[in-house]
Amino acid sequence: MLRRALLCSPALLLVRPAQAQQRLSVVASFSILADMTRQIGGDRIALRTIAGPDVDAHGFQPKPSDAAMLANAAVVIRNGLGFEGWLDRMIRSSGFKGALVTTADGITPRMMDAHAHHGHDHGGAGRRQNHSVGPRRVPDPHAWQDLGLAPQYLRNITAGLIAADPGNEALYRRNAEAYAARLAALDQWVRAEIAKVAEARRKIITSHDAFGYFGEAYGVRFLAPQGVSTEAEPSAAEVGRLIRQIKAENISALFMENMSNPATLQRIAKEAGVRVRGRLYADALSVGSGPAPTYEAMFRHNVSLMVPAMRGDAA
Ligand code: ZN
Repeated sequence: MLRRALLCSPALLLVRPAQAQQRLSVVASFSILADMTRQIGGDRIALRTIAGPDVDAHGFQPKPSDAAMLANAAVVIRNGLGFEGWLDRMIRSSGFKGALVTTADGITPRMMDAHAHHGHDHGGAGRRQNHSVGPRRVPDPHAWQDLGLAPQYLRNITAGLIAADPGNEALYRRNAEAYAARLAALDQWVRAEIAKVAEARRKIITSHDAFGYFGEAYGVRFLAPQGVSTEAEPSAAEVGRLIRQIKAENISALFMENMSNPATLQRIAKEAGVRVRGRLYADALSVGSGPAPTYEAMFRHNVSLMVPAMRGDAA
């Protein structure tokens, strides 16, 4: 009798599991990781992003409200490889006690020269000058620009969500699997598009060195006046060298980036007599109404601009 009464109670019928469930509180350090996390977590997570669309995460200056959002988070998602040095300080001061996911964990980073005159540091702790002579070697943090490395990002995010919310393991795994399949297809599409460009013409000038992984994965040579970080200005000699190279090699693909100051690049374009072919999305997505509001849309947008520009097609 009692059981039947409970089952028929209108109040109980209104409580459905999805509504009764508290959504998992997740914070992503920047917009690209936020989108990946959203694809896997779906509506089971309450997601917030520290460095949002079109925001440069390199020299990011967190506000006190950013630290406050960490305090109550169950999971924090960061790239690692020295990309978000500012986040370590925030985490220490916020009292964050949840799970910290480093998406680049398990990836062997590409190493690059940190040019001495740039004097920049992505903020990574513990990176020291080698005593050997020559430029300092630092890990390149932009591993998300190779879709072949994305599965490792997805595995790390999925493991973090499951650790904090084991009840939704099956859903997180299912979402991650479907997402990984879409990214694998996208990777094939990028390869097919790049193959439309003659090998000798696969060269691109961008504001800063964000496309090293992209270049290695897809066989495109990227040249940047600004080096690996957006925090340093290039020297006059470096800019002059780049202009001579553009002319000598007849490079036609010159791009701005969404979160960089375009002044240097515009000067290079003018002096080299080359037109800027648009805006690539490197370290941040666009706003929702822009051309690259998701990680997948970012690749489609970037590659759709890169291919005709490298070929020298009139646009
Ligand atoms: Zn960058």
